[in-house]
Amino acid sequence: MHAWRSTWQHLRQFVLPWHCLLCGAAGAEGMDLCADCAAELPRNARCCARCALPLAVPAALCGRCQQHAPPWDAAWAPFRYGWPLDRLEARYKFGGELAAGRVLSTLWQHEPRPPVWPQALLVVPLHGSRLRQRGYNQALELARPLARALGVPLHIDALRRVRPTQAQTELGARARRRNVRGAFALVAGTALPAHVAVLDDVMTTGATLAECVRVLKRAGVQTVDAWALARAPAPGG
Ligand SMILES: [Zn+2]
Ligand SMILES: [Zn+2]
Repeated sequence: MHAWRSTWQHLRQFVLPWHCLLCGAAGAEGMDLCADCAAELPRNARCCARCALPLAVPAALCGRCQQHAPPWDAAWAPFRYGWPLDRLEARYKFGGELAAGRVLSTLWQHEPRPPVWPQALLVVPLHGSRLRQRGYNQALELARPLARALGVPLHIDALRRVRPTQAQTELGARARRRNVRGAFALVAGTALPAHVAVLDDVMTTGATLAECVRVLKRAGVQTVDAWALARAPAPGG
């Protein structure tokens, strides 16, 4: 099913004009989204300098980072997880709509970039059982075109999920940290440069990315950034 669908979606860009996945109008050049809908997506312009948490009022750091800084060196999350970006993300992640993923990755490429650049990109891995169920890793399919556009090598298999975890969406902040503790490992023999970034689709509490960053730092990588397409406001707990 997935193979058939992705083949069709690959072909349709040659036979049909771009059309907006949100409103059905003509798409902007090279993208299945119109300029009006693209402009409506919530940018994460006012956010914590360390963890990219959306802030209601301007401040350098959020309350949590003032108390306890996250393990990564810098975060980049150009969008806020809100309407109508959440609709595209849900269709991509849970509806198997890869065209929505391509739109999201294209949007990401066009956002203002961080000043200091990693030398390699890694993605948060899915456990084998989740990967078989979904058919693709949503973080990886966002990362591929982004890495190409930025000219940064993508290390697809460097990080591995060594045990399945419960879906983070069902858990509070503390339970999320417990849920992912020890869930990731770096594949033996992987050689990484001094500065890398780990990418996920959506960052909520940052627990998953933080656990991946710890694994990389323990392996001796000096600078590790956390990248996500969108940052959600952190849940309580
Ligand atoms: Zn539109
Ligand atoms: Zn913060």
